[in-house]
Amino acid sequence: MSETARILLAEDDRALRQSIAAALRGGSFTVEAVSDGVQAAQRLREEPYDVVLLDIGLPFVDGWEILQQIEGRRQPSVIVISARGEERDKVRALDLGADDYLTKPFGADELLARLRAVLRRVRSTGDAGVARAGEVVVDLTNRSVTRAGAEVRLSPTEWVLLAELASHPGMTRDHRTLLGRVWGPAYIGDRNYLRTFIQRLRRKLEDDPANPGVIVTVGHQGYRFGSSPLARDR
Ligand code: CA
Repeated sequence: MSETARILLAEDDRALRQSIAAALRGGSFTVEAVSDGVQAAQRLREEPYDVVLLDIGLPFVDGWEILQQIEGRRQPSVIVISARGEERDKVRALDLGADDYLTKPFGADELLARLRAVLRRVRSTGDAGVARAGEVVVDLTNRSVTRAGAEVRLSPTEWVLLAELASHPGMTRDHRTLLGRVWGPAYIGDRNYLRTFIQRLRRKLEDDPANPGVIVTVGHQGYRFGSSPLARDR
């Protein structure tokens, strides 16, 4: 995998910003660093980045607001870096479209590993084919999703999860497999990620998210795209 990915780093702590930027450059990433939310929002409007490393506690415009501005865009992926280690902050960040959440303090190795994992999953879903469930059509080749003919906008991780389900239509994908394939082996016990993203996808894809027909819950095992294998060609 090429590691020429462009990273925007938004962190107001000068020492931390410099050390993270140095670690990223050492990992052969192209890095641009900003120190407040106004600059971050402006850069995000002007430039295409692969990943944003986003501090939540930023001056002027905080990370929550930046997340809301990015939500629904296919790029960039977002890794939140925050001193808040509480589960509800993590869930809130994921719910607002973050792809991952890293609690400070963290080491350079862990940061680089998370970054590579995010890039890998965004870049690895190139399987051919089209899968359908009801009015939802997932085009795995062109990486697009429509619902009743209208394009549905997904975040990078929403797309990877949906593609993982839709590339095996009608088949149950268990929790651990989905967590491992979408987020990585370190996440196979972290059901919050999966639950949150399934809810987000259902809000975008289902007529009645409480009674889903596109992403179906299969007992306590996992999830399935569509009702049966035959749904694919209907
Ligand atoms: Ca901060």
